[in-house]
Amino acid sequence: MNGKSDTLEVHDVAQPFSRPEIRAAIIDFPKGNVQVEGRALEVVGWVVGSSSRVTAVELSEGPAWRVRQPTRSGREDVARQYADSPQGPDVSFLLNSPPLAAGPHELSLTAVLEDGDTAPLGTIQLTAVLRARPAALILLYHRIVDLASEPWSLSVTPRHFQEQMSALAAIAQPIRLRRLVEALRKGGALPERRVVVTFDDGYADNYHTAVPVLERHGVPATVFLTTGFVGQPYEMWWDALDRVLLEPGVLPPVLPLRVDGQVHEWDLGEDAAYPAERAASFRSWRAGAPPPTRRHAVYRAAWDLLSTLDAPARAAAVDQLQTWSGIGGGARRTHRSLTQAELAELARSPAVEIGAHTITHSALSELPREAQRLEIEESKRQLEAQLATPVTGLAYPFGTRAHYTDETVELVRRSGLQSACTNVPAAVERDSDPYQLPRVIVPDVDGDRFAALLRKWLDDS
Ligand SMILES: [Zn+2]
Repeated sequence: MNGKSDTLEVHDVAQPFSRPEIRAAIIDFPKGNVQVEGRALEVVGWVVGSSSRVTAVELSEGPAWRVRQPTRSGREDVARQYADSPQGPDVSFLLNSPPLAAGPHELSLTAVLEDGDTAPLGTIQLTAVLRARPAALILLYHRIVDLASEPWSLSVTPRHFQEQMSALAAIAQPIRLRRLVEALRKGGALPERRVVVTFDDGYADNYHTAVPVLERHGVPATVFLTTGFVGQPYEMWWDALDRVLLEPGVLPPVLPLRVDGQVHEWDLGEDAAYPAERAASFRSWRAGAPPPTRRHAVYRAAWDLLSTLDAPARAAAVDQLQTWSGIGGGARRTHRSLTQAELAELARSPAVEIGAHTITHSALSELPREAQRLEIEESKRQLEAQLATPVTGLAYPFGTRAHYTDETVELVRRSGLQSACTNVPAAVERDSDPYQLPRVIVPDVDGDRFAALLRKWLDDS
């Protein structure tokens, strides 16, 4: 079940054969420069004696410990391994070391001869490496919906989400973020295989589609809300961009966008007209891949530009895009935010804990200190006032190390929040910083593939 294990890194195996009594010896495992799983070493081999028979073999580490095993002739498991050996097994052995402490070791393998004398068979140099097993994992979702265009891999279909929560409840221990943070703050070992589910941004489907599944499977979740998105009648800016540029239709050939007094101009060329079949054929395009059309290139350039702006400049840019295209205003049913009433209902679910995700979803690293402080403290305060419940966690917008700074972390710490989540993909270890908790974004995969990923993340990261 726990695939992640400590390892022995074997550096060298030397075989001196200093005694004429021993014609040959083979140590099957380890060879030099290999890794062995676990912390105990298994040594299998055979010895061909000449004048004096080998009656036992010892594995030892100085005076620390010594393991002796009588040799046997015709030992089948060992003989099978040396069936092709020209000398054939004379006597064979199989020894197990005790578990080795972390650090370098030199083990000796010694033959005990019939007359009670001993002869060295070899030395094994290795290092035992102890890896702390990751204690917990925080999963990141954004939306549970089936979409035609999904450049940032932020959605999981309702069917897959159902399968994923079922698998999660079966193979791990879902816990609340608050519990995980409490355990981290107490220090000491964390219980294993704990998994926290989180959602960012505040899409309406979190309430309508995700919560019933979470409740059915007894999986708690934290929903991080961008307070400025709640109840807004239009789409989040990245969705507005997607709607204008990546939905099929006909656009004016040139897009001029005035930002901070500078005009950016993008030419859509023949991709100004974008038929539905063509849009469907690029359904699997992701923002990290090369843009297959001018529309995708412009989408990506505009996204990069808008992501660095403050909220008013960004809203002005989205306005220009919508006026230019004649598309937008309101929100698509599949892309809308929670209303205030839905948020109140969401927060009442016993499965849900509410966290802050700033007011405007700006990259905090781009903002001056005072603006960052407001984004952090005000989003917490607004949610607490509206929901009459303490808000103890925050998630950094965009969440990579480029999107927040040490100053941001310090401001979060001072705000009275107990934890903050990033989008840095890793497992939570016992020494993880509660204000920079890593999270893994869950891809849109079925229950089996999710279960395999979960095991990999829990055991190998
Ligand atoms: Zn977000």
